[in-house]
Amino acid sequence: EFHKGKGQHILKNPMVVQSIVDKAGIKSTDTVLEIGPGTGNLTMRLLEKAKKVIAVEVDPRLVLELQRRVQETPYAASLQVIQGDVMKSELPFFDICVANIPYQISSPLVFKLLTMSSNFRAAIIMFQHEFAMRLVAQTNDKLYSRLAVNTQLLARVSHLLKVGRNNFRPPPQVDSSVVRIEPRRPPPPVNLREWDGLVRLCFLRKNKTLGAIFRQASVLALLEANAATMAALQTGAPDAMQHASMFIDADTAEPADADPMEDDSAAAPSDPNQLRGKKHKFSPAFKDHVLAVLTSRDMSDKRAAKLSQDDFLALLAAFNSANIHFS
Ligand code: SAM
Repeated sequence: EFHKGKGQHILKNPMVVQSIVDKAGIKSTDTVLEIGPGTGNLTMRLLEKAKKVIAVEVDPRLVLELQRRVQETPYAASLQVIQGDVMKSELPFFDICVANIPYQISSPLVFKLLTMSSNFRAAIIMFQHEFAMRLVAQTNDKLYSRLAVNTQLLARVSHLLKVGRNNFRPPPQVDSSVVRIEPRRPPPPVNLREWDGLVRLCFLRKNKTLGAIFRQASVLALLEANAATMAALQTGAPDAMQHASMFIDADTAEPADADPMEDDSAAAPSDPNQLRGKKHKFSPAFKDHVLAVLTSRDMSDKRAAKLSQDDFLALLAAFNSANIHFS
C-alpha cells in the first residue's frame, strides 16, 4: 500500500535502473545523494558504485524497509538514511545526486539544488517527461519558457533517457525522462532578481515583440517606479527563497505541479500583473529612454521565444547600464 500524494511509483525494471546508474558517471570516491529511495531498487545499485550514499526519504515505513534490505549486505556501512522531507531538510555535502523523485517537487527541487552554495558535480534526476522537455528546451522549441531560461542560466542540462510509464509500479499517468543537470561553476555573474524580473516580463507574451511588451503602460509604470526607488534599494546578495518563483512557468505549469513555490504572488515587485487595475503612470521621456535601449540593441522586433541566454544577458546589461531595473 503506497501513500497517495507522495508520488510513490517504484521503478521496477532493473535494466532502467542500471542504465540510470551507468549514465550517472559515479566514481568510487563519490558521495551520492539519493532523494526518495523508496524500497531501494536504485539505492542498491548506487551502493555498488559509490563510496557512500545518503538517502533522504519522507516515509518512515520505507525508511525501515530500506534499512532492513541493506542490513544483510556488505553495503550497510556505506548507507546513511535521513528520514524527512527533502524540501525542508538541509542537504548534506554530496558529489552527485541521483534520484527518482516525486514529481510534485520537481520545480522547487531543481531550484533548491541550483541555488545551494555547496558544490556538486551533477544531478541525474527522473522527471515527468514533459517537465524534462521543458527543462532542456531551446529557443524556438514550443516548450521554451522561463523554466528553461532560468535553469539553463545556472546549469547545463541534457536529456539522458526516456522511461515509459510501464516501468513503474504502480504506473504513473505519464511517461518519464532522466535529465542530467550540471551546475555552471562559477555561477554566472548576474543578479538573479534582476534577471528573473526581465525574463518574466519578456515571457509575459513570449510570441509578442519586446517592442510591444515594453510599450505597455503597466510595464513602463513598473520600470519607472523601480528606477525611482533604485537608490534606496541596495541590491545585495540575492536571497534564495525569494527567487523560488523563477523556476515556475506560469504559461505551461500544470495543476499537477502545484506547490507553494508556484505561487506567483510571492514574485512582487517585478510582477506587472500586480499593477493591474491601478493607474499606470509613467513619463513620456522614460518611455523614450526604455525604447531607445531596445532599439540600440536591435531588440524591438525580437520575441522571447527566440532569445538565447546570451541575448537575455546582453539585454539585461544594456538596460541596467541605462539605469533601468527589474527588481
Ligand atoms: N527511488 C524509488 C524507485 O525508483 O523505485 C522510489 C521513487 S518514488 C517515485 C518517490 C519516493 O520519494 C517515494 O519513496 C516517496 O516516499 C519519496 N518522497 C516523496 N516525497 C518526498 C519528500 N518530500 N522528501 C523525500 N522523499 C519523498
